[in-house]
Amino acid sequence: DAESVAERLIQLMQQPADIEGKTLSAQIYAGIGLFPQDGSEAEVLSANAYAAMEEARSGQPGNICFHSGTVKLRTLQRQDLELELKSALETGSFTLNYLPIVDAVSHEVRSVEALLRWPDSVMGSHSTSKIIGLAERTGLIVPIGEWVLRESFGQLRAWHDAGWSQMRLAVNISMQEFSRPDIAPRIAALMLEAGIQPEYVDLEITEKMLARDAMTGFQVLDTLKALGIRLHVDDYGTAACSLAQVSHSPIDGIKLDNSLVSAAECCAQDHAACHAAIASAHALGLAVIAEGVETQKQADGLQAFGCDMLQGFFFTRPLEACAAQEYFESGQGDHGDG
Ligand code: C2E
Ligand code: MG
Ligand code: MG
Repeated sequence: DAESVAERLIQLMQQPADIEGKTLSAQIYAGIGLFPQDGSEAEVLSANAYAAMEEARSGQPGNICFHSGTVKLRTLQRQDLELELKSALETGSFTLNYLPIVDAVSHEVRSVEALLRWPDSVMGSHSTSKIIGLAERTGLIVPIGEWVLRESFGQLRAWHDAGWSQMRLAVNISMQEFSRPDIAPRIAALMLEAGIQPEYVDLEITEKMLARDAMTGFQVLDTLKALGIRLHVDDYGTAACSLAQVSHSPIDGIKLDNSLVSAAECCAQDHAACHAAIASAHALGLAVIAEGVETQKQADGLQAFGCDMLQGFFFTRPLEACAAQEYFESGQGDHGDG
């Protein structure tokens, strides 16, 4: 009975609605707690239904989930992980890895992307995407993001001082950080604190953030751009954002998603689609970086298509700061002379 009520509610609530001239539709998930086995008090029952709803969110919109032993266990695990995440931030347990981005023709390192790592998580190793997802749900992404910016800016300063004066840095930004009204002044203050010039910094945002900012006439992106930094759309090709839309925004370039890069090896059509995406991006004045390059064939193909920069395990896996510097020194990097 409860399930059919949930189905009807979802059906009704998913109907598109006209709001301020736009047709919007909500994504609905349902969690169900049953009396008395899932709680004999309203508060407990509703908390358990909420936990089941969190579980439902790991599926497609419209998903319904009953509270169960598994849900209970996962909720406890999530809560433990959340506490652990908080203390990791306080005790300085996070580190950064750096993934080189190389020139597509010379293969010299032009830039590094900072990637968050949590090496000694008590609860075993978690993928960065999972950690970032949890940090986003708990709001911890804001202080963690601030730590990432401060730490990576300090490292870039150290590399510039050590003679890699043209090295650039790319940092990923989450929607929640992006949505804070003080994002631009915060980044400006951190660049000043580290003593780095904005022209060496790239921010990687998602297609979702771009779409959201487009609704307000690029209020956030314009302020970030005014700092003098470059803006790139990460994982390009995973959502429905056209290149024309990107080119009408303050974005400087796109990072072609792994899926497009590997698909380019599969069949003639995918090959042509990848080539066309690079050519159109260039025609619209956008730089193109390919992510997830794993084979020589992909690297050669992308270079032949005129792709500007490449990044992926074919060149190197993400490296700790000192190993990244060794990678620059091994001759793969460009020992910039100013
Ligand atoms: P991303 O920004 O798209 O970063 C690229 C991801 O692809 C990295 O995973 C990298 O290790 C992986 N990768 C790169 N080349 C290859 C390849 O050739 N093959 C394969 N299989 N994988 C490759 P990672 O480090 O696990 O990060 C996952 C995602 O987590 C990132 O995707 C980014 O969205 C997010 N992330 C990482 N660090 C941060 C951070 O400091 N802040 C925020 N907001 N997000 C972060
Ligand atoms: Mg990225
Ligand atoms: Mg990416």
